[in-house]
Amino acid sequence: MNRGRILIISGPSGSGKSSIINYILSEVDNSTLSISTTSRDIRDGEIDGMDYNFVTKDEFQNMIEEKRFLEYESVHGNFYGTDREFVEEALEFGKLLVFDVDTRGRESIMKFYSDIAVTLFVTTPSREILEERLRGRGTETEEQVQKRLQNAIEEMREMKNFDYFIVNDDLDRAKEEAIQVATLSALKPTISLSTAMLELWEM
Ligand code: ADP
Ligand code: 5GP
Repeated sequence: MNRGRILIISGPSGSGKSSIINYILSEVDNSTLSISTTSRDIRDGEIDGMDYNFVTKDEFQNMIEEKRFLEYESVHGNFYGTDREFVEEALEFGKLLVFDVDTRGRESIMKFYSDIAVTLFVTTPSREILEERLRGRGTETEEQVQKRLQNAIEEMREMKNFDYFIVNDDLDRAKEEAIQVATLSALKPTISLSTAMLELWEM
């Protein structure tokens, strides 16, 4: 029986997903990040193999051909993909697997794992605040900031499809709300769990 659970987190770039996810990973026992593969440049402070597996565009193409990805997308001009084997292994170990993916990634992952997944959308109180935070992070060029701000609207249109949402105004409050959602994800009655319990009751 697959004992693991999935928490999918999406939201505009700069809304605070990474900050919130790092907190979940430090506070929730047995939680682990689905480490994506990306062709984007590594940022200061990021660690290859921990934040992402960083590869070249050619390496990414080869991985597509080898069918290594559960899903992949081109986001803000770079490739990002979810490692199929990594996901299966983590779920077999009964982990709470946390995904930081765009809203199309959410849709793809739900096709495979809707039974065990809970989805959370993170956003800021306004577009202006998002812009401020993106610039404040100082990791993107002006052109990249503009691209991410444009894409933010597309992401916001998808908010309605998520189970929960957090407006990341005060970070401490947002982190606590995320812990509540992570806790709730363990209380989702998956099909395999419901079947196993029913069998016990009928004995
Ligand atoms: P994402 O992973 O969604 O792109 P980050 O977690 O990198 O977003 O956050 C974007 C920037 O905003 C970072 O510099 C982060 O430290 C900062 N930040 C996150 N949440 C808040 C908050 N509530 N108030 C102020 N700054 C924040
Ligand atoms: P960043 O470059 O800021 O780390 O991420 C940019 C966007 O790519 C974010 O919206 C993030 O959620 C998304 N992303 C990261 N990894 C994946 C992935 O494996 N699949 C998909 N579909 N999106 C991803």
